[in-house]
Amino acid sequence: MNTSGKIPVAVLGATGAVGQRFIQLLQDHPFFEIAALTASDRSEGKRYADAVRWIIEGDVPQSVQGMTLLPTDASILASGAPVSAAFSALPNEAAQAAEPAFARAGVLVFSNASFHRMHADVPLVIPEVNADHLALLKYQQQARGWSGGIICNTNCTVSGPAMALRPLYDAFGVRRVFAVSLQAQSGAGYPGVPSLDITDNVLPFIKGEEDKLEAEARKLLGALRQDERGALSVVDAPIAVSAHCNRVPVIDGHVVTLSIELASPASPDDVTRVLRDYRRAEVAGLPTAPAQPIVVRAEPDRPQPRRDRMAGKGMSAVVGRVRAEPLFGDCGVKCVTLAHNTIRGAAGGSILNAEVLFKSFGLLRA
Ligand code: NAP
Repeated sequence: MNTSGKIPVAVLGATGAVGQRFIQLLQDHPFFEIAALTASDRSEGKRYADAVRWIIEGDVPQSVQGMTLLPTDASILASGAPVSAAFSALPNEAAQAAEPAFARAGVLVFSNASFHRMHADVPLVIPEVNADHLALLKYQQQARGWSGGIICNTNCTVSGPAMALRPLYDAFGVRRVFAVSLQAQSGAGYPGVPSLDITDNVLPFIKGEEDKLEAEARKLLGALRQDERGALSVVDAPIAVSAHCNRVPVIDGHVVTLSIELASPASPDDVTRVLRDYRRAEVAGLPTAPAQPIVVRAEPDRPQPRRDRMAGKGMSAVVGRVRAEPLFGDCGVKCVTLAHNTIRGAAGGSILNAEVLFKSFGLLRA
């Protein structure tokens, strides 16, 4: 902790779409204080305000305007930036080497990159879905000899569906899911998709996205198992998931429509009740946790990205159009999910992971 009693943190990849959200959400955070910002060697050494192309609401916060961008290199820890945690908004290629280097040096890295997500000893966590998977961190530290560690966020597209599927999986069981995404432009980072490709258009292909949605949903909903030698791992949930992913001309907020085959019959009213009543004790009272993880809209034309993405300060999954899915008989239900991709699906999700983890380590005053 520093003199303010807060945990000093770094934001890695601080100038990008997700890095900017981290900076915005960490302003006046009760537990964490930004002590270091990093970026690529294109930006290293510049004042943050001079290097960043600020693309989210408001202005660059005053507290970071004059901070010097450091290299994304764990050597910064020894040379004056002693942080306990790093919020990583690095691209995959940069995350591959940099995140383990920080973890080896004793830093808890909350990663948004996909590179480490599916490794057996890496927790892939949405706290309202599978906070118990954070227990993998101890085994990762033992296996790799690290005092820090890597805790991953999901792909932004899976966050809304996974939050909706968790309570349904627990209440009724889930056999098969057919998902179609309508993904916002900020999901591609900055500068992202060229305007002449996306304006007046829909792009029916996002590289790697369908595989991620399918595999990550199964890991998130999977169960933690301990083998006879005490080693922990996640057994994927036995759900068949099929995804179609599309990019649409929306700035923020990923919509995903779901057709779900439950393992036991349930009416749309039963499903609505289970979604609306869903709460998780692990996040109760934490600053970034929304009071209601799943907001169910009854109107026939909601959720909509522009109107609903900031539900729960961007941390709630919004679900609407809950109705019967005739393809799956008595066990069929379909709905529309929406989640803010750079808040719930990225920076806010990482910060909530950190809040849960630091609280469970007894390091917070929560
Ligand atoms: P972005 O807008 O392209 O930002 C990338 C950031 O990483 C910038 O700060 C950039 O710094 C820095 N960077 C680039 N190459 C680097 C290198 N070789 N070494 C060190 N830093 C480097 O990307 P983003 O959308 O914020 O995404 C960041 C990560 O989050 C990605 O892994 C992405 O897949 C994941 N993610 C994104 C979203 C989303 O909705 N956008 C959601 C979930 C997860 P410079 O300014 O110096 O180039």
